[in-house]
Amino acid sequence: MSEPKSILVIGGGISGMTAALEAAEAGKSVALIEKSPYIGGRVARINQYFPKFCPPVCGMEINLKRIKSNPNITIYTLAEVDSISGSAGNYDVSVTVNPRYVNSKCTLCGKCSEVCTAEIDDDFNLGMCKTKAAYLPHKMAYPRLYVLDPSIIGTDDAQKCKEACKYDAVDLDMKPEKVTINAAAIIVATGWQPFDASKVDYYNFDKNDNIITNVMMERLNAEDGPTQGKILRPSDGKEPASVAFVQCAGSRDENYQGYCSGVCCAATIKQIHYVREQYPDAEITVFYIDIRTPGRLEDLYLKAQEDEKVTFQKGKAVNIDGTSNGNLLIEAEDTLTGVKSKKEVEMVVLATGMVPNLAETGLPGGGATFDKYGFIVPDGEGIYGAGVAKRPVDVAVCTKDSTGTALKAIQCLVRG
Ligand SMILES: Cc1cc2nc3c(=O)[nH]c(=O)nc-3n(C[C@H](O)[C@H](O)[C@H](O)COP(=O)(O)OP(=O)(O)OC[C@H]3O[C@@H](n4cnc5c(N)ncnc54)[C@H](O)[C@@H]3O)c2cc1C
Ligand code: SF4
Ligand code: SF4
Repeated sequence: MSEPKSILVIGGGISGMTAALEAAEAGKSVALIEKSPYIGGRVARINQYFPKFCPPVCGMEINLKRIKSNPNITIYTLAEVDSISGSAGNYDVSVTVNPRYVNSKCTLCGKCSEVCTAEIDDDFNLGMCKTKAAYLPHKMAYPRLYVLDPSIIGTDDAQKCKEACKYDAVDLDMKPEKVTINAAAIIVATGWQPFDASKVDYYNFDKNDNIITNVMMERLNAEDGPTQGKILRPSDGKEPASVAFVQCAGSRDENYQGYCSGVCCAATIKQIHYVREQYPDAEITVFYIDIRTPGRLEDLYLKAQEDEKVTFQKGKAVNIDGTSNGNLLIEAEDTLTGVKSKKEVEMVVLATGMVPNLAETGLPGGGATFDKYGFIVPDGEGIYGAGVAKRPVDVAVCTKDSTGTALKAIQCLVRG
């Protein structure tokens, strides 16, 4: 019987990167599969992260340095698993690696982007702005390579990109490739996507530009975001004088997401800080059912309460509607007393939760067990969940969890 070669990690967010690094630094061979053109996952899109409010660059840079210098890790971006066969100790995983149309000769000179006329929704900025169809996904993107969007292949734009590239890095003949990876253990670190707020009719999220979500707020406050870091009201670019945060937007509600995402209260408190830094006089209201800031995150909550212009209003938002003057009216109801309240504000941020990415699709080829919300349930040997694929948690918990998961995968590999 041939020796199993590696540990396969699916998903290149902070959890997948951590699991891959821990296994690789213990001397094991690791294949990391990421479906987007870069690794880093959702954390790369966060502007600052609690508890310290540092930019994600800090943690990411260290991890990227470790990954770059570790020959045991092979990264496949733009890659997705087609099927998994075999069992613990000996899986064969079939993967499709989609073309980037740019090879490793890319120097990041940006000429292809300059000549490209086609624009696409900027996925990194959640479609809040456009980017050229020849692009670097974001300033820290790794691998450090441009990408050509498949929509321009076969058009004049693609040809212009090729001609503009002095380094012969644009390769329009690239085709999807099939790779088979033999793995002793599989770590599923596929993470999350934001809850789709338009599912809750009474928020009117898709009908009013001034109602945004917390993930959009992260990008609004980011220097490389759609407004170069200025928090502005989307409909008219006004500096908001009042902002309301609506907690549990779709969460803890059996009609939508029955669970607590655990991070969105702390994320709101962080975003209060974003607003306050830019607008010292802005009035901020937080509509909440309970504020959940476990452990030391409570310190952040206590600090936010000291701000005289921040009101924590107990109440579940039951309706959000535009007013004739372009503002928004929030109606809320205290879930314990039934007391109703109303508040007019200039901008609303919905604190949406995290939906596991595999909730609808499961794992191609099966082999993993999921709970009713789509989180992986620890179950048996060989395939292990890590990070938010397993439960909604913050970065600190993800990294600890992924380290433990790497150990489980190593044990499985050693047992053979
Ligand atoms: C508004 C908001 C603010 C937050 N702020 C903070 C904060 O300040 N501090 C903090 O500690 N936490 C914060 N969090 C939580 C933090 O974002 C998560 O803990 C973290 O993203 C989890 O990392 P992950 O690697 O498990 O998942 P992800 O970041 O989602 O990474 C998963 C990766 O897997 C890839 N992938 C998905 N499916 C597949 C597939 N089928 N094949 C291959 N690849 C796949 C994805 O493209 C992605 O790169 C916040 C969350 C929200 C909602
Ligand atoms: S693909 Fe070529 S033109 Fe585009 S950034 Fe890379 S080196 Fe420059
Ligand atoms: S963390 Fe806060 S906002 Fe998020 S679901 Fe839990 S209680 Fe609601």
